[in-house]
Amino acid sequence: MKKPINLTHIEQFKPMREPLSLQDAIKESNRCLLCYDAPCSEACPAGTDPAKFIRQLRFYNYKGAARTIRKNNILGSVCAFICPVEKLCEQKCSVVALEDPINISGLQRFAAEYGKDFGLEPLQKGLKNKGKVAVIGAGPAGMSCAAELAKKNYDVTIFEKESSCGGVPELMIPDFRLSREAIDYDIKNLLDLGVEIKYNSKVGSQDEIKNLLSDGYKAVFVGTGLSEPYELPLFNKYSNATDYISFLRSIKKSKEKINLKGKNVAIIGGGSVAIDSAVSAAVLGAKKVYLIALEHLDELPADKEEINLAHTLNIIFKAGSQVTEVMAKENQITGLKGKEIEWIEPNKFIPANAKQIDGTDFSLNVDLVVQAIGTKPGEEIKKFAFGLKTDEKGIIAVKNNYETNIPGVFAGGDVVNGGATVVQAVGDGKKAAESIDSYLC
Ligand SMILES: Cc1cc2nc3c(=O)[nH]c(=O)nc-3n(C[C@H](O)[C@H](O)[C@H](O)COP(=O)(O)OP(=O)(O)OC[C@H]3O[C@@H](n4cnc5c(N)ncnc54)[C@H](O)[C@@H]3O)c2cc1C
Ligand code: SF4
Repeated sequence: MKKPINLTHIEQFKPMREPLSLQDAIKESNRCLLCYDAPCSEACPAGTDPAKFIRQLRFYNYKGAARTIRKNNILGSVCAFICPVEKLCEQKCSVVALEDPINISGLQRFAAEYGKDFGLEPLQKGLKNKGKVAVIGAGPAGMSCAAELAKKNYDVTIFEKESSCGGVPELMIPDFRLSREAIDYDIKNLLDLGVEIKYNSKVGSQDEIKNLLSDGYKAVFVGTGLSEPYELPLFNKYSNATDYISFLRSIKKSKEKINLKGKNVAIIGGGSVAIDSAVSAAVLGAKKVYLIALEHLDELPADKEEINLAHTLNIIFKAGSQVTEVMAKENQITGLKGKEIEWIEPNKFIPANAKQIDGTDFSLNVDLVVQAIGTKPGEEIKKFAFGLKTDEKGIIAVKNNYETNIPGVFAGGDVVNGGATVVQAVGDGKKAAESIDSYLC
């Protein structure tokens, strides 16, 4: 019982699904089997406990449901919009054996919005009597770790390089997928706990983490995510080639200033981020939007629903294809030439395994190229503290308890898992907070 996607909402950059009405929420929660040892709850990396909040909704305890979500997941409102539930709680829902799974994200959104609209009491400030802890990065991992530590009465300061809190969801995820109010509500809950955020505070030079430790912070959590996009050398010297971070950030900040009317846009990449970029370009009036990916249509990493949405918006898929040449006038790309590819070895979706097929040449007129081919941690990660163990891409190595090789320094979220989901980052932040508490006690 999902609400259908509303294309007019997407065009207006409003959340693409309507919220469930009270009647819908009652009906949907009544379909729940109230499973013992509920598989939906076990499948949530952040421990949001859908079985519990659905049971509360079913027995008309709407505020109780909102409290459960907020207590278990400081980004509970954000997750209600963008969590890939079809691969997590909804996939495991016992009702699947009979009919469509329970619409868990819809119920989560209903309960979280009920709590916001009907004045759930603010979360209580922690006592701050267990010592100071520093968190680097105010994204989902950092917010979650900070919230759990504040609840355990630590005095938590987040150092954030940007001027806002929320990480990727706040900076990049398009408004037609995630409402501004949801992010703001989750941030408000974090601040109510007494967490301090120092904005425009990039931690980046050699030994800065060790300085924090000698400055009275008893432990440090690193949740800096992935901020450096991969780019293809082919596009290096052109002013109308960009990366998805710059593209999506500028749209999120001031879409009114971006005019793509009459332009042809080529998105390079085939994952969810490429689809977000392609849909955004289409909604901003681009004449043609091409999505060029090495993977063939049935191999694209993006979800089926995202691909269907892109088809509905007439995005042209050049899947199983590779750009071979850039056509340009001075430093401006005017077109792309490419060829279809086949894989040398099956199921190895990397450029080195692609073989161009003779006679499949194509050529496209293009005014803007957006590269959405992945990200890695920022360069400063390797400099955080002399000797902090990372792999060659800058991904931080941690033990099972999220502790790095430096005692007292913990890490989690995308900078550790290489890029996953908001709910995974929240789960990492929570578990790291438990480990920090054990370490300090
Ligand atoms: C376009 C896009 C769409 C996505 N869609 C979804 C989705 O639909 N569902 C989903 O679950 N996931 C989605 N993801 C993935 C999800 O956003 C990430 O997995 C999640 O944000 C990771 O959280 P994090 O806290 O580890 O990192 P981030 O969200 O990257 O947060 C890191 C924070 O650290 C700050 N920081 C970085 N370096 C420093 C420094 N040196 N000093 C101080 N601060 C620093 C950054 O400014 C940022 O605020 C999407 C990602 C992208 C890019
Ligand atoms: S698994 Fe499905 S049916 Fe069972 S408690 Fe969770 S939502 Fe309800």
